[in-house]
Amino acid sequence: MSQPNAPESRPQSVSVQSVSVQSVSVQSVSVIGAGIAGTWQALMFAKAGCGVTVYERGDQAMTLATGHWAGGMLAPYCESEAAEPLITRLGLRSLDLWREELPGTPFNGSLVVAHARDRADFERFARLARGHERIGPDEIAALEPDLAGRFGEALFFRGEAHVDPRRVLPALHEKLRSAGVPIEFGAAVAPREVDGLAIDCRGIAAREDCPGLRGVKGEVVVVETAEIKLSRPVRLIHPRWPLYVVPREANRFLIGATTIESEDRSVTVRSALELMTAAYAVHPAFGEARIVEFGAALRPAFPDNLPRVAVSNRGISVNGLYRHGFLLAPALAEATVAHVLGARTDGEVVRCG
Ligand SMILES: Cc1cc2nc3c(=O)[nH]c(=O)nc-3n(C[C@H](O)[C@H](O)[C@H](O)COP(=O)(O)OP(=O)(O)OC[C@H]3O[C@@H](n4cnc5c(N)ncnc54)[C@H](O)[C@@H]3O)c2cc1C
Repeated sequence: MSQPNAPESRPQSVSVQSVSVQSVSVQSVSVIGAGIAGTWQALMFAKAGCGVTVYERGDQAMTLATGHWAGGMLAPYCESEAAEPLITRLGLRSLDLWREELPGTPFNGSLVVAHARDRADFERFARLARGHERIGPDEIAALEPDLAGRFGEALFFRGEAHVDPRRVLPALHEKLRSAGVPIEFGAAVAPREVDGLAIDCRGIAAREDCPGLRGVKGEVVVVETAEIKLSRPVRLIHPRWPLYVVPREANRFLIGATTIESEDRSVTVRSALELMTAAYAVHPAFGEARIVEFGAALRPAFPDNLPRVAVSNRGISVNGLYRHGFLLAPALAEATVAHVLGARTDGEVVRCG
């Protein structure tokens, strides 16, 4: 495919050899997929001076992306309860990059709460997760007045942030356009069809080219109520999965998410009941909320649930972001660019061959 509006290429130190992609020039980069992984790749390659074009099979609403249904939590500390140290390392670096690129990102922290019957699980979470402080009823009420009197104790993860995927993707796409990066919507392409260095960010749609990649279903409910205000994600300790309520604009809340080893994309009655019960347990006002949407999407995951930047003679594939796409995409893009430009190779993330 042709490369409209590609900025002047930089002649200098770009070593095609360094990515084992012998036949293309890294002066031109084609990113396939405008989800969170592809968008950050495009942003970072453009910042590095490469001419970038993005191809997206869907339209600007991005409803085909897994990210359309994501919570958008940037929560490296909460996730450290169950995730590998690599996720925390990349996540912490990503927080800096989010701050730099979108200074308006709300860094309000996250709260973790539990009801008395789940006390043991709460203590386990507190033991395993880093980066929190224990707070009592007065501090909970100061942070979230509508939760006053509802929980005796909480964990406050001060350093965490959250974004609304349905707002942040268009904002980042606009940033790309302002930087001269064209985004071709309605363009379903394969890596072999594009010009220059192909960066494959198709998520679960790249399964055939990514051995071992699987989809892990996550279900969510979006509700609307003016009866309760929250300023930050609230996670409720739950015996089966971490459930959370994330505030959105216009009195909306995303309640998520299940984690199910299934590639079926429907929302089951059982999951819907559990999600809504969790919200009700955070605050009974959710009982009167209006249901706006149910949805499910497949998180792209490798068997070890870790992300990969895989370099081959066909190009580069960035995939397996699993439940951490918004958290990890900036740091993965930084690692990809550093490798391609020959500056540094992060051996924990970049796999050549
Ligand atoms: C319920 C749920 C909650 C989540 N919550 C969080 C959270 O709070 N925080 C967090 O960090 N992560 C969260 N995640 C995970 C996150 O959504 C994923 O890790 C992330 O969306 C993966 O990003 P991606 O860009 O790799 O894939 P996608 O988001 O799926 O984007 C891939 C894009 O490629 C496009 N595409 C596919 N094939 C082609 C083609 N041939 N040509 C052109 N374009 C193509 C698709 O249309 C799509 O837009 C959640 C996920 C789920 C399901």
